[in-house]
Order: sequence, then structure tokens, then C-alpha cells
Amino acid sequence: MPAKILDGNKVAEQIRNEAAEHAKKLTAAGTRPGLAVILAGHDPASEIYVRNKVKACEQLDIHSEKLTPPDSVTTGELLAMVEELNRRDEIDGILVQLPLPKQVDSKKVLLAVAPEKDVDGFHPMNVGYLSTQRPGLVPCTPGGVIEILRRSNIPIEGQDAVVVGRSDIVGKPAAMLLLNANATVTVCHSKTRNLPEVCRRADIVVAAIGRAGFVTRDFVKPGATVIDVGINKITDRAEFEKFFAGNAAREKTFSAKGSTLVGDVDPHVAEVAGAITPVPGGVGPLTIAMLMANTIKACTMRRGRGA
Ligand code: NAP
Repeated sequence: MPAKILDGNKVAEQIRNEAAEHAKKLTAAGTRPGLAVILAGHDPASEIYVRNKVKACEQLDIHSEKLTPPDSVTTGELLAMVEELNRRDEIDGILVQLPLPKQVDSKKVLLAVAPEKDVDGFHPMNVGYLSTQRPGLVPCTPGGVIEILRRSNIPIEGQDAVVVGRSDIVGKPAAMLLLNANATVTVCHSKTRNLPEVCRRADIVVAAIGRAGFVTRDFVKPGATVIDVGINKITDRAEFEKFFAGNAAREKTFSAKGSTLVGDVDPHVAEVAGAITPVPGGVGPLTIAMLMANTIKACTMRRGRGA
């Protein structure tokens, strides 16, 4: 039986609706949530991400500000910008869009964001809160992984979960969230031995690797849940055929655009998995929804006064 497809768009809409309702209550109580995004330079992908984040704020009636320092911005200038946002009471969330221009010390800038306004959840203080199970701000994409599991009624407690990837922004926080939800967690990476065998033990596989279709059918126990965090653009016809031969809808996009998106999981895994997130339309839409939820959470924790 083919896998159940876990619809990230639907879950993202639920989260956005809840955030919108919460934002409305906070605003009615005189505390309108606010998000500031710093976009330094002109990275085309970053410009699209930031545009989508600002648009999401507008849809939820969250106050948003976009600061756009030039490519030549210095670490000192960015630090001053972050410190000013830290001071402003009406700004609840500060997001520094990465990558920053190469002359900038990104770690120093991220460290300057006040932890209570760190809606990306990257500050070491929030990392510590997550690992010690204290209330804090959790990174958006891993947060989305847990939400899609929970809201799709996939059990986590007591399950064997394997996370492939150990980045600070996806793999490690996803593993920590699964552990906090009482899964038995294994974290794999490029030095892991017998990776397919390790993955085959899992009830839940989370793939956050950055390699198109890397997790194949032989990595997955029949009936397991597979969460595909990867977003990879493929342009090569042979690679396209490997993943999507016979898929008319994909053929149409590929022929029209010369590219298509594939996750870190080979789409044929849907033939063995019990449930799987598609790419696109799985974890992707959840990231911005979780950013909205984090902005509301930051607002409530810092100045919500019970609203
Ligand atoms: P990353 O920082 O490059 O980390 C990749 C991880 O995969 C590393 O831990 C690496 O191991 C591991 N890895 C690489 N090759 C491997 C192999 N052959 N076998 C086992 N492990 C291997 O990537 P990331 O930022 O976590 O992103 C992962 C993916 O998620 C990317 O496709 C990215 O586009 C996507 N992503 C999506 C969203 C979203 O909104 N949906 C958000 C963020 C990222 P080592 O540590 O040993 O090098």
C-alpha cells in the first residue's frame, strides 16, 4: 500500500490560523506583535525568503519591518542595528537572514540578538533551554517537523527515531525535540557506518542532509514514517528520470521550467513507507508558519501579560 502523504500545506494553514487568532487577541489587548527582519545585501534566494516572511506577517496582521543594509555592511553596523531592535519594546522577534555578506562575523551578530527575541531559536541560550526542556524559542524547521508528526497523529513516544543530519539549524534541534517527546533517538551524519541499516531500524526517519534523493527504499522499514526536510533543485534530465519517470505532473513542470524540486528522500520511498512528507508541500511550508508562531510566542512570553 502506498504511504499516506502528510500534507504540510494543511498543517501550516492550521498553525497560521491559530497564530492569527492569537495575534488578534494580543493586538486587542494593546500588544501588537512585531517582527523585524534584517536582509543584508542582495542574495536572490534570501530576498524571496524575506519577501515571503513579510507577506506572512501582513496576512496575520503582525507588524513587520524590513531593514536592508547594503552588501558592504560591517559587523559593527549590524551589531548596532540588532542592539537598537533589542531595545525597542514593540519588536518581539528579530530575524537575521543568512547568509550574511562574507566580511561579517555572522556568529557575533546572531549572538547579539536578545534570546527572548530570537525567533530563529539559534541563540545558545535558546539551544540550552531546548536541551534542558525549559520554555524558550525553538528553531522553525525542526519545530515544524514535530508539528507535522503531532498533527498527523503519528506517535512519537517510545518510537525509534533516526535523524540523518546534525546541523545546528535542523538535525540537532530536530533530534532534541524528538528526544524531549520521548522518542529513542539516533543521530546520523557523514561518518555514520552502515547508514541504511541504522535507518531501517527506525519507526520515524527524519532526513536533513542536503543531497537529492539520498534516502532510498532500502533505508526504510516498511510502514515507517519519513519526514523529508531536504529541498534540492534538480536540472539534469537523467536525475529527473531516476526520480520521476512516468510522473506526468512533474514532467510538465520540468519541461516548462527546466528544473524541479526533490527532497533528500527518493520519491520511490513512498512505496514502502507508512507515511511520508512530499517535496514540495511537506516540511517547507511549515517553516514560515512556525516563524509566525514563534513571533507570537516571543510576544506573549515577553509582554503578553496573559493575553
Ligand atoms: P547542512 O548544514 O549541510 O547539514 C547536512 C548534514 O547532513 C550534516 O550533518 C552532514 O554530516 C550530513 N550528511 C551529508 N552527507 C551525508 C552522507 N552521505 N551520509 C550521512 N549524512 C550526511 O544542511 P542543513 O542546513 O541541515 O539542511 C539539510 C537539508 O534541509 C537541505 O536540503 C536544506 O535545503 C534543507 N532545509 C530545508 C528547510 C525548510 O524550510 N524545509 C530549512 C532548512 C534546511 P556531517 O555533519 O558529518 O558533515
